[in-house]
Amino acid sequence: MTRLLPLILVLVFSCEEKKSSTSSYVAFTGAVIIDGSGKTPIQNGTLLLKDGRVMAVGNHNDIDIPENTQIQDVSGKTIIPGIINAHGHVGDVKGIEGGHFSKENTIDNLSIYARYGVTTVVSLGGERSEAEPLRAVNDTTAGQRARLFIAGEVIEGETPAEALAVVERNHKMGVDFMKIRVDDNLGTIQKMPEDVYQAIIDRSHELGYKISTHMYYLEDARKLLEAGSDMLAHSVRDEPVDNEFIALLKEKNISYCPTLTRELSTFVYGEEGDFFNDPFFSREYDSATVQPLRDPDYKLKVRNNLSAQTYKKQLPVAMANLKTLADAGIPIIFGTDSGIPTRFMGYFEHLEMELMADSGLTPMQIIVSATKIPAEYLNLKDLGTLSRGHWADFIILDADPLVDIKNVRNIHKVYIGGEEIDR
Ligand SMILES: [Zn+2]
Repeated sequence: MTRLLPLILVLVFSCEEKKSSTSSYVAFTGAVIIDGSGKTPIQNGTLLLKDGRVMAVGNHNDIDIPENTQIQDVSGKTIIPGIINAHGHVGDVKGIEGGHFSKENTIDNLSIYARYGVTTVVSLGGERSEAEPLRAVNDTTAGQRARLFIAGEVIEGETPAEALAVVERNHKMGVDFMKIRVDDNLGTIQKMPEDVYQAIIDRSHELGYKISTHMYYLEDARKLLEAGSDMLAHSVRDEPVDNEFIALLKEKNISYCPTLTRELSTFVYGEEGDFFNDPFFSREYDSATVQPLRDPDYKLKVRNNLSAQTYKKQLPVAMANLKTLADAGIPIIFGTDSGIPTRFMGYFEHLEMELMADSGLTPMQIIVSATKIPAEYLNLKDLGTLSRGHWADFIILDADPLVDIKNVRNIHKVYIGGEEIDR
């Protein structure tokens, strides 16, 4: 035993030696690179990484590859930045059930997202203190899971004082964003009064937070923009948006997050979900998990649910509004409101892209919405586009997503911080 020890030491030493003396550069070569900025894709591109970050990106003629770089030839593939979901939720759900909050489940949720190519999740509320150490701000590289930003407790209160106490709690816990809901849930609950949300928004800004707001009605969206909301976290769903609203969004330079799959999730299980048999769905969600949603009584309940049927009726309004706002040049920020029971994290991001395409957005608009826009509008440091100094979070695809956005499902590999995600 003791005779082996020097040999082991030599081996350990030589491994260390190898790591530091040879370069840790990695270059992905030969792919078409869509960098997330919206610019023309780079043909025969080289993506050069070191220590989890992008060192260079461009046409192979313009990139000097250092000696001893590990080359990965990915000719014929397309590279896009990892998907950023600007409105998700983590920690709560296991399968189709809520109430499982723990650090382990939060990590598990983030791993599911990562396997679907969602490399960053902005969780807009419901996370607890166990999620705080997992925040992206603490990441060196993320390690087999998506990066995380959190909003903590969704701020509520009947009076400004009550609501401000929640703001302080969130601040103490260490959140990245604040989040409120201004909605009467189709006339079934009391809506947050204006003086309460104004106080929350003002205090959040004083403390240096951006605040994201759940809303449904055009009138509320307009008032929230006036009050200083930094992000509209859902679609306007009651009526078509008008020029006054577009002008206000432009003046305030605020992003708009459609979350079309949120609407879909309310009514889609009234019928047999056609995605239950999709292998891209069942790779994470097996038939036992979704069995309760196939129950005829459950389906009937959904079909007879007035709220569900109202959201169904209003989904085309949301889709038309998305197209109007995108055409007007409003920054569309990608989000799904997934990670809530029956909104399947990871898979729903791909469904959302499909619905955005059905709404009339181009694949390039959708990709930019899921990469550059969230990073820019939510100040997500070193994320978004594939550019020098940013984290090397990207997806290698087997098919061209600009031909059909559904090709984002043809995932060859996912990388977060330059580390391949085990799929
Ligand atoms: Zn939400």
